[in-house]
Amino acid sequence: MRLIKRVLDKVTYNNVGRITTLPFFLGAFLVAIGVLIYLTWLALLGGAMTIASLVLSVWKWRCPHCGSRLDRTWEVPKYCSHCGKELDKK
Ligand SMILES: [Zn+2]
Repeated sequence: MRLIKRVLDKVTYNNVGRITTLPFFLGAFLVAIGVLIYLTWLALLGGAMTIASLVLSVWKWRCPHCGSRLDRTWEVPKYCSHCGKELDKK
């Protein structure tokens, strides 16, 4: 569990978009395949992946200064729309 926490701590607003995009689409793809070929476990695995990446992106997509949710954009915004502090893009 400590390893999971360490990995999760590395996920920030800077990289959460990049980290969650692939598992999100891969998961959705696996659901489609699983449904098509009647492989329940594959569909469930895909669903779990999609939901996990959604949860992670909602959870981590917030301002490091004030903790407010950031706007839903593909790019990291330059400034927080709530507290106005600069967000650094890496
Ligand atoms: Zn803020």
